[in-house]
Amino acid sequence: MGEGDAASGELERLRERNRSLELVYASIRDLTSTLSVREVLDRLLARVLAHLDSEIGSILLRHPDGRLRIVVARGLPAEILDTTAILPGDGISGMVAESGEPLLVEDVETDPRFQRRNHERYYTHSCLSAPLIHVGETRGVINVNNKRSREPYRRSELQLLEAIAGTASVALANAHQYEEVLDRAQRDALTGLANHGHFWSSLELEFQRAERHGRPLSLVMVDVDHFKAYNDRLGHPAGDDALCTVARILETGSRAHDLVARYGGEEFAVVLPETDATGAHCYAEKMRRAVESACFGPGGAESLTISMGVASSEGGLTSARELVGLADGRLYEAKEGGRNQVCAGSEV
Ligand code: GH3
Ligand code: MG
Ligand code: MG
Repeated sequence: MGEGDAASGELERLRERNRSLELVYASIRDLTSTLSVREVLDRLLARVLAHLDSEIGSILLRHPDGRLRIVVARGLPAEILDTTAILPGDGISGMVAESGEPLLVEDVETDPRFQRRNHERYYTHSCLSAPLIHVGETRGVINVNNKRSREPYRRSELQLLEAIAGTASVALANAHQYEEVLDRAQRDALTGLANHGHFWSSLELEFQRAERHGRPLSLVMVDVDHFKAYNDRLGHPAGDDALCTVARILETGSRAHDLVARYGGEEFAVVLPETDATGAHCYAEKMRRAVESACFGPGGAESLTISMGVASSEGGLTSARELVGLADGRLYEAKEGGRNQVCAGSEV
């Protein structure tokens, strides 16, 4: 090999290194400009697939139960996204998650560690997998398959994947922290329910959505009966416990898309999307009975009741405020009517 060849080989290596560094810098810029975990991962995967000229990719994160579950993916059928749950040590992803070491598999069928039939959705037998590590702990795994050239992946490509995965872990940690803070800011510290601010922003959104799509929306305002007397007799800490019990009852009786909030003090509000006045009345009546039959206080010797006002958006209301006003008025009627009852107006 002449001097000229050696020089141009070196030049090519430097060019490739330069491309890799540019890519890593670009991904740092890209990933740290968003604070949503899903968005960080989505961008990471898109970037990696583009640069490794590959068609299939997935990112799995370790869940509290220890299993790895797919959080974002490209080129994979929807049904495997929900059903995949990999134990540490299992298969390629499990091995990478357990060891924290990246893996280049040239051929899954002949690699002595796997020796398994290549799945038909992978038209190449080669894949890359790298860990997502933060402060020494493996949080997840990124996998890349189906290189368009149909050649096995190279060592330099694994190094590139590892470098980009490294930039993602910082962005991921930031995003996690931000989502935690956001979540805390929307919750009531005592009961863990949505707080007053979050209730209003959700109700406004749901009101607009219901109006736009011509769908029903209901609201239940809840107030604990004679709660001042309960506090006076048993003390505020016991009162706090009772509010938490009521919160759990309201939550248990609601569906995934309902929003149970602490409006303030001993008042709660439940937003019921896709629910008409009859459905909301049914929910409220069920909650009334559940609280009436629950045990409160030391030794479970105490009882409490709630009063509720129910309103639905079907009656030509034009704003979320009007809906709250209507439910509030009916709550007042329920109190006037003797408490431990639901007032739902004439819609039911
Ligand atoms: P009514 O049946 O008319 O609703 O009577 P009430 O006693 O429940 O209503 P009132 O508004 O007079 O009193 C509400 C009480 O709720 C007074 C307040 O001390 C208590 N309360 C509000 N927030 C909390 C809380 O966070 N913890 C505790 N322990 N008590 C609270
Ligand atoms: Mg009150
Ligand atoms: Mg009260």
